[in-house]
Amino acid sequence: MSNNKKPIYDEQQVEKLASHIKAIIELLGEDPSREGLLKTPQRAAKALIDNTSGYSTNPDILIQQALFSHEGDQVVIVKDIEFYSLCEHHILPFFGTVSIGYLPDGEIVGLSKLARVVESQARRLQVQERLTADICDIIAKNIKNKGVIVVCEAAHMCMKMRGIEKQESTTVTIQCTGEFKTSTVLQQQFFNLINLKKH
Ligand SMILES: [Zn+2]
Repeated sequence: MSNNKKPIYDEQQVEKLASHIKAIIELLGEDPSREGLLKTPQRAAKALIDNTSGYSTNPDILIQQALFSHEGDQVVIVKDIEFYSLCEHHILPFFGTVSIGYLPDGEIVGLSKLARVVESQARRLQVQERLTADICDIIAKNIKNKGVIVVCEAAHMCMKMRGIEKQESTTVTIQCTGEFKTSTVLQQQFFNLINLKKH
């Protein structure tokens, strides 16, 4: 996502990963010494490190750094936060959007932090159900609130590439707490606001 800082890599980690990736290339019957593949182990190692950078971020601290007192009690919604993750069963990408809503109870969080929380949980080996639940838990735990709702819509390459899923289908997962759990009216209001029905 919008992380413009150039990552600093642990060279030892890159080299270790690269040696394994080179072995995989060989096991697949390819020639790792041909021109196009010469630098692939290092590039793929760095891509893997980038795509799992969530392991080295602390989402609790991300939120706690940006809490502000707030008197209103109307729902706050950030919708269609783009994410890219890796399915933990096949290490193939799944990607889509996350929409978050919460009912403040005395405080709010800087909006960009919600996207950072999504990234911290997406950039690791994941399943969509846990991604959705963990984002909801982190927000519910760190911001004073009367309810949190998270909806995740994603496409899974492990299903699409292997022909298990129809090309255009999307998987939707939902997690909610507090008043979003007890009030179907509030829930429906949220779904309407994020246009969930388009799928
Ligand atoms: Zn999978």
